[in-house]
Amino acid sequence: MRENNLSFSKKLGQNFLISPAPRKKIIGALDLIDNSLNVWEIGPGIGAMTHMLLNLDAKLTAFELDYGFCGILHTLFDGNDNFKLIEGDFIKNWFTYQKEFGVPDRIIGNLPYNVGSVMIANLIEKRCTPEIMVFTLQREVAMRITASPGSKNYSSFTLLCGIDYETKKIGELNPGNFFPKPDVVSSIIKFVKRSQPAVPEEHRTMFLECVRDVFRSRRKTIKNNLLNGSFGDRFGKEEGWELLKASSLNSDDRGENLSIDDILEFVQFVQN
Ligand code: SAM
Repeated sequence: MRENNLSFSKKLGQNFLISPAPRKKIIGALDLIDNSLNVWEIGPGIGAMTHMLLNLDAKLTAFELDYGFCGILHTLFDGNDNFKLIEGDFIKNWFTYQKEFGVPDRIIGNLPYNVGSVMIANLIEKRCTPEIMVFTLQREVAMRITASPGSKNYSSFTLLCGIDYETKKIGELNPGNFFPKPDVVSSIIKFVKRSQPAVPEEHRTMFLECVRDVFRSRRKTIKNNLLNGSFGDRFGKEEGWELLKASSLNSDDRGENLSIDDILEFVQFVQN
């Protein structure tokens, strides 16, 4: 960094993972079973993990927003045919790239703290769902991904991730593992794609609408949230209320208590 006159940007969540053991653990969790796999790395920084992935012969596409870092990455890896660098914002670039080159087999990233959840939600909503993804995230965000119904971290994001993936925390990293040291603890989360999505395709759109509705306001009942949300817009308040009463949901319940299956049962009842 010094050689290239670069400094760390807090705004871009630039905390480098400097401990070798967690790097190995994260890469190991990717299950790179053979060297034909296409891997995306989000936010490679100056390439500590990139270098390890290329040593495993992964076909790697890295997405980096910091143009100073991009210069270093070009110098280090351009000689490797398995390396491709997409410069700029991952959120703006991945979709076009995927249209041309397809969904990767794996995604890895020590994600920038401020936009980690946005990146994951963006991928899943737009159906870029590789078999395995492994991310390092701020612990609070990780807890929202792996939360169970009824807990305070359970949210619409938990449900979104749960449609296509089983998610598991596989490690926790104290600030001392990073440079510069962040203010927060991080968790490593592994996403493994379900053999079948938990929500059938024909119900997915309405399922996601209902998820957004029931979490519109955590303090309000699902009756209030659904009838004043897109469910109410779709069916009208009167018919919506009749449907809700006839369904298996308790209209006085709160979104945070509903599992994927509870919401799916409701959506299937309404759509069938
Ligand atoms: N991979 C390195 C490591 O593990 O040490 C760096 C991780 S650092 C937490 C996050 C990286 O994401 C930084 O290199 C930062 O410049 C990059 N970044 C931040 N926002 C980004 C975005 N929207 N698109 C692509 N990269 C981004």
